Amino acid sequence: EGRPAVPQGPAQGPGARGGGPRMRRAAPPPQPKMAALKHRRTALERVEKFISEVYFTDCNLRGRLFGDRCPAASLSCFQTPRRIPYDEAVRQEFTPAKVGDSFGPTWETCWFKVELSIPPTWAGREVHFVWESDGEGMVWRDAQPVQGLTKEGEKTSYILTSSLKETEPHSMTLYVELACNGLFGAGKGSMIAPPDPDRRFTLTKAELVIFNRDVYELLVDLEILLDMAQLLGEENQRSFQALYTANQMVNVCDVSDPSTFPAARDLAAAIFSQRNGESQHTIHAVGHCHIDSAWLWPYEETIRKCARSWVTVVRLMECNPELTFACSQAQQFEWVRSWYPGLYAQIQDFVAKGRFIPVGGTWVEMDGNLPSGESMVRQFLQGQRFFQEQFGQICSEFWLPDTFGYSAQLPQLMRGCGIRRFLTQKLSWNLVNTFPHHTFFWEGIDGSRVLTHFPPGNSYEMHGRVEEMLKTVKNNKDKGRVNHSAFLFGFGDGGGGPTQKMLDRMKRMSDTDGLPRVQISTPDRLFSVLEKESSQLCTWVGELFLELHNGTYTTQAQIKKGNRECERILHDVEVLSALALARSSTFQYPTSELQRLWRLLLLNQFHDVLPGSCIQLVVEDALRYYAEIRGAGARLQEEAVQSLCGDLLQPRVGSTESTLVLNTLPWERTEVISRTGLPGFDGAPDLASPGGLREVCLSPSYWKPRSSNRSRVFFSLYSLLHCQFFLRCCFSVPLCSRESVPEGCYANQFALFDDVPLYWDAWDVMDYHLETRKPVTTLLKPLEISLAGGLRGSASFSLQIGKSSTLTQEIILDATCPYLRFLTQVEWKEAHKFLKVEFPLLVRSTNATYEIQFGHLQRPTHWNTSWDWARFEVWAHKWLDLSEHGFGVALLNDCKYGASAHRNVLSLSLLRAPKSPDATADMGHHQFTYAVMPHRGSFQDAGVIQCAYNLNFPLHPVPASSAQCPEAWSSFSVSSPAVVLETVKQAEDSPGAMVVRLYEAHGSTVVAWLRTSLPVQEATLCDLLERPVAGGCLPLEQRGIRLSFTPFRVLSLLLVLRRDATFSHLDNLEERPELKW
Ligand SMILES: [Zn+2]
Repeated sequence: EGRPAVPQGPAQGPGARGGGPRMRRAAPPPQPKMAALKHRRTALERVEKFISEVYFTDCNLRGRLFGDRCPAASLSCFQTPRRIPYDEAVRQEFTPAKVGDSFGPTWETCWFKVELSIPPTWAGREVHFVWESDGEGMVWRDAQPVQGLTKEGEKTSYILTSSLKETEPHSMTLYVELACNGLFGAGKGSMIAPPDPDRRFTLTKAELVIFNRDVYELLVDLEILLDMAQLLGEENQRSFQALYTANQMVNVCDVSDPSTFPAARDLAAAIFSQRNGESQHTIHAVGHCHIDSAWLWPYEETIRKCARSWVTVVRLMECNPELTFACSQAQQFEWVRSWYPGLYAQIQDFVAKGRFIPVGGTWVEMDGNLPSGESMVRQFLQGQRFFQEQFGQICSEFWLPDTFGYSAQLPQLMRGCGIRRFLTQKLSWNLVNTFPHHTFFWEGIDGSRVLTHFPPGNSYEMHGRVEEMLKTVKNNKDKGRVNHSAFLFGFGDGGGGPTQKMLDRMKRMSDTDGLPRVQISTPDRLFSVLEKESSQLCTWVGELFLELHNGTYTTQAQIKKGNRECERILHDVEVLSALALARSSTFQYPTSELQRLWRLLLLNQFHDVLPGSCIQLVVEDALRYYAEIRGAGARLQEEAVQSLCGDLLQPRVGSTESTLVLNTLPWERTEVISRTGLPGFDGAPDLASPGGLREVCLSPSYWKPRSSNRSRVFFSLYSLLHCQFFLRCCFSVPLCSRESVPEGCYANQFALFDDVPLYWDAWDVMDYHLETRKPVTTLLKPLEISLAGGLRGSASFSLQIGKSSTLTQEIILDATCPYLRFLTQVEWKEAHKFLKVEFPLLVRSTNATYEIQFGHLQRPTHWNTSWDWARFEVWAHKWLDLSEHGFGVALLNDCKYGASAHRNVLSLSLLRAPKSPDATADMGHHQFTYAVMPHRGSFQDAGVIQCAYNLNFPLHPVPASSAQCPEAWSSFSVSSPAVVLETVKQAEDSPGAMVVRLYEAHGSTVVAWLRTSLPVQEATLCDLLERPVAGGCLPLEQRGIRLSFTPFRVLSLLLVLRRDATFSHLDNLEERPELKW
């Protein structure tokens, strides 16, 4: 080495420069080389003060960052409550404005016209337009967005030129679009408090400045050396090397004389270029900007957040050829594509260069727990197809860094969508247990595995600081197994993204002894290295449960209800439309309309919307989207039914009115229905069954109707219910003759809990809420029989809950129905209370079973270990069950997700009342239904899974002309009760083909035959993106199509239909046996 590692210069006391007059440029008198004493603390603090933004800026280096300033030549503005396009904005009348003015209220937009004139004396200098405000700004130049400016995101400069030339324009007009909200909305008093509707946003700077790049570079050098000195610690000699170098740089540097800077920079470069040994950890830094698709701001603002953040990334990419940026959520790309086509074109260029990297493969970063299996598939289907269409590639990693837990079915769904890699970090938020890995294989309930990486720094918004690099290495739980990890840098959540300074920091740390190696990388490069190193990796089996935010399974009940209902609506519309298409060549499958509705539903599954952790404005948007899906869904269903059932629906003169019943589930059903609202019916219940009331059963299969004396059995139970105390819904199981509820306990017991979390109000229900349980016992209206007999019996009562809320319940028991329904209405006016309903059961089991996407899993009912009790509040889909050998009780629901099972008590979480970030959350009227189903045998054999579907997918009675009604007709059936045919839809890429999706629901290995009456010509297995699987062609046999399932396996089939075999009338079918299997 030619130079000493840490050059030691002549000692200078702190007063040397600040003191008396100095003879600049005169040769200093020769001094003896003598090392100075260095006190660690004073040396550290000296460097700190030299770069401080607060202290000594009159004489320190920081004070020299900017040179001359020049105000805007003119500034004018106009304000609007709407978010309008540029073209419309610039046509408005602008009135004079000045720095210091404030604008608002919250959510308004202020457009500024800024005339700038750069002084000619600034030739050769770097000139910035500096804009500082507490709102989020976008600079427009020549009708294009050019720079996002957000003080909170450390972006206040739009660089006009790096070196002003005479030929460059010195005068220009810029527009600044200022959103009257901060990076995190406008919470009143705290970030997650409801937005302050009257906040004002002040413009504090709008000027031209000279930017001293050489000062900036020195500041970055010193900041890193200071961090190394402080963070490597006194036990590490590298700490002292960094400190003494920094000290020497201060000695060398004369802030008023830039000619002294290069020598100081050389000192820094010398230490930064001292390299690591071969064994050092490598950090893969990837630019990132987590943008919540809606959270503390509405969806519409997110569109602008994307543009502000991404245009900034594009600017950075132009000056930093190494910068990469991982960007998730197809929806956000789609927003920018349609609202900012110019910017989008630039992004497309950088995508093609492999630098702007689409990741995740999903439509939005959805909640990882609550969406149905099919919704999860559609997140990927819509996302991956978008990325393929727009960028010619699908994503190879699933990207969900900020979601509140991850379903154990996700690994299989990822694998089915072309993804073998997964990145998140949210489990670092666990309150109780530290997750034991950062890099591991995650194995789902079906055995599918994906390579999973949690960036060990536990964040997706790093700033490229020394501290974060050291934490990444130190924290890594898989030391010795892998030596590479991810580091996502850039402001996030509210947008923002990377900054130049972050990049400049990391450039200096690329390979510096004492710090991990830092390279700007890509997710693909990281995962490729991890795959090579994967032989030593451990495997985590089952769900990635987040031990926090467990209130999000319940908060904003209307959103949860909208989600469940709209999942059902789109399922039904697809089934009916696909069958209509199969049977009529003239039917137009509503491809684009269904895509539009699915995208609305998928958007609402974003990880702060479906969980209910958003502000009121977002809730209103979400509920509007659900209303849109309900309305459009009803129209589409009507069209499909019209086409499917043809003139059966047209009442003919002289024919008696009848009812056609449509069943969109794949098994035969016999249920009591109400024909209220249909012409000619008074609302008395009817029994719908293939042999009774005329029913078009689209998909009958294995599930046998109960024996005919069933209804009598149940009505004797009903009378039992009636003579008990109102809360003691005591019932027994036919042919089993045993009680379900222990002596002295009441089922259907409501309980109210205090619900005051530590901070995250809408998100969290804490362990201690369990200590505040109060049974609800105040009766407003005693139990009274509303329907005494026949096919349906029901009784109702009302309760007072808390101080001012009320609950009315109708308990309904139908002939042939193995479960008791609780139709519930609540007027909810509580604050920080949690309402649950409990079912203490005469069942002993150490595990309860919960439905998840395309399957189920078990969780303990005891609190043995910290991992067990941390799951005091969990999620489930349509049912949960507590069973012992030969007997059990299931709880079904039509729109709830929060649940728990402790010892022998099953609880369903009904309503919460958080006040942040939406002060009105859940206030008002609620209607929901749950049901209790005692059963003999296992829940699988008892049909709990099918009953939960039945509760969620009611039969559709439609008026028909009785003379024309055919016998029951069915399109599909499955030979095994373990297999559920979940989805029937048109294939995305071939309108003449159908996709059907089935899954094994019992957790068993089974062969099932899929039979269909549709004219299927060819059947091929395909993946979840509907790409045919190699060798997946299935023979069409006499018994149907043979399908092999392992536990919880999801299979998708492409069915190509014979077009010449279409027909338009149901009754023709019976006469054309050749069309059947
Ligand atoms: Zn987020």
